[in-house]
Amino acid sequence: MTDCIFCKVAQAELKARIIYSDEDVVAFHDMNPQAPTHILVIPRKHIPSITECSPEDLPLLSKALEACAKIAEHESIRESGYRLVLNTGEDAGQVVNHIHFHVLGGRKMAWPPG
Ligand code: 5GP
Ligand code: ZN
Repeated sequence: MTDCIFCKVAQAELKARIIYSDEDVVAFHDMNPQAPTHILVIPRKHIPSITECSPEDLPLLSKALEACAKIAEHESIRESGYRLVLNTGEDAGQVVNHIHFHVLGGRKMAWPPG
């Protein structure tokens, strides 16, 4: 997708503070962090949201989740706890239509979310 900002991050056409990258997945700091640790994890493949995800994409999502867990360990929030967020669609507040997991931690989280 040529006009997708997260595709551009994945292709290094847009600058981001990347902390992990492999052939399938990229992880980088959110530009507007909502917690002391706020990392976004994306598949390189342009999948708009979980709604558009097909069965053959599931291994990619599995890799992304594995990266989330490794990042939590690397960011020292594994023991204290962290939240994975997958906003989907308008009511959930999804603004970037390239599927991404938020890894949030480093502070107490409220429940239910706002
Ligand atoms: P959503 O609301 O779609 O789940 O989350 C999108 C997230 O992407 C937001 O937390 C926002 O701060 C972040 N974001 C949007 N544009 C950029 C960007 O160009 N670079 C980075 N690093 N984060 C971005
Ligand atoms: Zn994209």
